[in-house]
Amino acid sequence: MPEVDLLISGAAVVTPHGTRRAHVAVDGGRIRSVGPDRPSAATTVDASGLLLLPGGVDTHVHLMDPGSTEREDFPTGTAAAATAGVTTIVEHSHGQPVRTVDDLRAKIDYLGGRSHVDFGLAAHAWPGHTDAVGPLWAAGVSFFKLFTCTTHGVPGHDAAALKAHLQASAQADAVTLMHCEDESLTSAAEQVLRAQGREDNGILLDWRERDAELVAAAVAALLVRRTGARATVAHVSNPEVAEYVTAERHRGARLAAESCPQYFLLREDEVHEHGPLRKFTPPARARVDDDEREMWRLLRAGTLTHMSSDHAPSTLEQKRAGDIWNVHFGLPGLDSTYALLLDAAARGHLSYEDVARAYCEAPARAYGLWPRKGSLLPGADADLVLVDADAPRTLRNADVLSKAGWTPYDGREVTGRVVRTYLRGTSIAADGPRSGAFLPGAGAVTSC
Ligand SMILES: [Zn+2]
Repeated sequence: MPEVDLLISGAAVVTPHGTRRAHVAVDGGRIRSVGPDRPSAATTVDASGLLLLPGGVDTHVHLMDPGSTEREDFPTGTAAAATAGVTTIVEHSHGQPVRTVDDLRAKIDYLGGRSHVDFGLAAHAWPGHTDAVGPLWAAGVSFFKLFTCTTHGVPGHDAAALKAHLQASAQADAVTLMHCEDESLTSAAEQVLRAQGREDNGILLDWRERDAELVAAAVAALLVRRTGARATVAHVSNPEVAEYVTAERHRGARLAAESCPQYFLLREDEVHEHGPLRKFTPPARARVDDDEREMWRLLRAGTLTHMSSDHAPSTLEQKRAGDIWNVHFGLPGLDSTYALLLDAAARGHLSYEDVARAYCEAPARAYGLWPRKGSLLPGADADLVLVDADAPRTLRNADVLSKAGWTPYDGREVTGRVVRTYLRGTSIAADGPRSGAFLPGAGAVTSC
């Protein structure tokens, strides 16, 4: 009788705390040991020459299912995740938001057999409905998504509504992901632009201006500290926002700062040429190489605490169906985020240990999924990624598995290839069985 189900031998095992050659033993879907021991195994995989990292934990994902499945659905979106090395997602969709415990239960039921990777689900915070916070948190949502500005049809929270939500969250010890753009600034800008009859692609930058993000993030960060709630500022787009968030963290706010590859690798002026294909909000802010370098520095330093894709796909046809004002916001990102982080490590912007922290451990910790997810500790789920760190690869629209069918990084040459992804000890693939399971959030007191 073999001692364990699976032994992955000889890889360079990467955690946030270091890299060492080790054998990873897996039994019953969990990590048994990481080290010099080589227990007998039913299956042994020789991973010499490869890196082994934790599976990616992408906590800002919109799969539109149920809701707007003409844009994406769970089978396609999680096929992209599995292939890219992402084994855990936290999903929420604006088209059909989770606002009640019944909504959550119905969505979990509906998603049975639809996911290639394990998934948590977030609820939407709704102004004036703070009574829903305690029950939803206890029912197992991963976090509450909150907007400060009315976006994607979801009503915005002004400072009073935000404070009320955060007070209810603090009481329940719930976590909130805050989309920060100030409503009064974005709507005033919109009025001016519309009065001028502007329809050029450049409106995006004047409409979703820098101060709108900074004002909302600063107020939100302050209220997080005042209320004692736990929260994340979503998609921090530039260093100035990160500085305000960090200042409140130093004053005691329990506050994480998420960013996404588009704020490191896409440039502000690309919207003029690409229009709807660069319509996401906040928009790209980097103007020169130094702006990108500063974002990488903030990520290395942990000022930006973690990365997500903010995967919010539309097909090319959908993106081309209207003008810059009325096409959907958002980019596809699940296909490319892990690859871009591995490439950043190959280029020296990050260490591989930073990648394991920023896209595995830190997001899992932020939402109570660690150490079951995002870690290689004994007892953790055996969610593992084998990477050929030196393999060159060109990101291509043709390889995108998301229903979007395109990537803003089409043609970009990257270094590093995910050669295999394991979910709870089983190799997963886009054409394999969909064995992803619902992950209850940290506040769950009943199984849903
Ligand atoms: Zn989002």
